[in-house]
Amino acid sequence: MTTAPHPLAPEWLAARESTDDLEAKLFPADTARTTEGELTLGGIPVSELAASYGTPLYVVSENDFRARARGFREAFTAAFAPDTEVDVFYAGKAFLTTHAARWAAEEGLNIDTASGGELAITLAAGVEPARIGLHGNNKSDAEITRAVELGIGRIIADSVDEISRISAIASQLGRTAKVMLRLTPGVYASTHEYIATAHEDQKFGLSLTPVPGTQTEAANPYLGSPAWTAVEQALDTPGVELIGLHCHIGSQIFEPAGFELAAGKLIGFLARIGASRGVVLPELDLGGGHGIAYTEADHPRPPEDIAQALAAAVREACTEQGISIPRISIEPGRSIAGPAGVTLYTAGTTKDVVVQDGITRRYIAVDGGMADNARPVLYDADYSAVLADRRVTGEHILSRIVGKHCESGDIVVRNVYLPPAVTRGDILAVPATGAYCHSLSSNYNYLTRPAVVAVRDGQAQVLIRRETEEMMLARDTGYP
Ligand SMILES: *Cc1c(COP(=O)(O)O)cnc(C)c1O
Repeated sequence: MTTAPHPLAPEWLAARESTDDLEAKLFPADTARTTEGELTLGGIPVSELAASYGTPLYVVSENDFRARARGFREAFTAAFAPDTEVDVFYAGKAFLTTHAARWAAEEGLNIDTASGGELAITLAAGVEPARIGLHGNNKSDAEITRAVELGIGRIIADSVDEISRISAIASQLGRTAKVMLRLTPGVYASTHEYIATAHEDQKFGLSLTPVPGTQTEAANPYLGSPAWTAVEQALDTPGVELIGLHCHIGSQIFEPAGFELAAGKLIGFLARIGASRGVVLPELDLGGGHGIAYTEADHPRPPEDIAQALAAAVREACTEQGISIPRISIEPGRSIAGPAGVTLYTAGTTKDVVVQDGITRRYIAVDGGMADNARPVLYDADYSAVLADRRVTGEHILSRIVGKHCESGDIVVRNVYLPPAVTRGDILAVPATGAYCHSLSSNYNYLTRPAVVAVRDGQAQVLIRRETEEMMLARDTGYP
């Protein structure tokens, strides 16, 4: 028997006939089903996790997270050897707890932060300041002061005005801040395409395009651009040590072409700084955004492929420009944390909604939703799901998993084939939720935020406690 595709299903979605059809690339490597058909995460049955910690529950596989962190470091180190070294900065905003920061640091990664709060968590984890970066397009004086006092590895400056602020703060403290400049190379990449443009219309970074009306010079096409002004200022101002250039061109990128193009542009700019100012900046950061599989339609490449393509592009551009290969850094976030995480929900109300004449869609409401996973609402993101607490074989039906919030857009999984038997009390597992779910979670409708539990070799450990109503009320001054 083969199930005919549902008329409302997207083309990429394959019909399913058994809960045993696990799409391996969506789940942590240590996911399995027991002989009875129950899903296990890190060796622990989901029913046990749900009973111990409640649902919704973020479960993260420590071994999977660590293996991905190691995988990026090893792949990029190997691809650029013996010419230069690579630092991998884990982009903490994807998923940051003190444990996660320690896992990344223990696997040899540095940590990128994007606010005082992320910096505080990373420091609380015991990560050495020299291994931390600070991003942000609107850093406060307090954030800059703290970063300079700590002597963190790098502040990634995002504007000309920020450089004077770093300089003033560092000078006052009698320190020198290591600074990188975030440039917008005119390459936007997302999924399978990239767009190359001369102009930039976004809040991040410093453009390479001269501002109209500024002085031009044939030898230096960048003169008068915010990026060039920032370089001159960073080189000429006290308290600032300019260590290199940075770019981050997008997210959920599968093809290396956009990264290659951006690397070429930054290397051209690096060579121009050398020629005009006689300074060879030692570092180049190529950002993050490496794509992961959220659904079966996504086909991410192994980090080795991206690393080799990028290393080839960097070597070629440096040869062409006649400069030596800088020290390289990258900033993966979702590609480390995303596939390591699975969210468990308990199914509640189900409804068959007639969408067109004779065509119905099954709605399954769960005990969480947009407060624990904002990505479907924010980005129209697609996810997948499986019935996790038992095995069911036979025709699956097109279903939509929705949350319990007061928004009709509160969708968790837009389209998925699930057994028609899914009913109240069943556990549903939504994979690839390790990144940008916990970190984007909210208290909308005053739902308490879920716990985060790490699993490893049959052991579970709470990383973040489930929020309680007491914790929510503690911020309300009308509560005695
Ligand atoms: C968010 C971010 C990253 C990580 O992006 P992912 O898509 O999670 O890999 C890296 N660098 C910067 C500057 C970022 O803002």
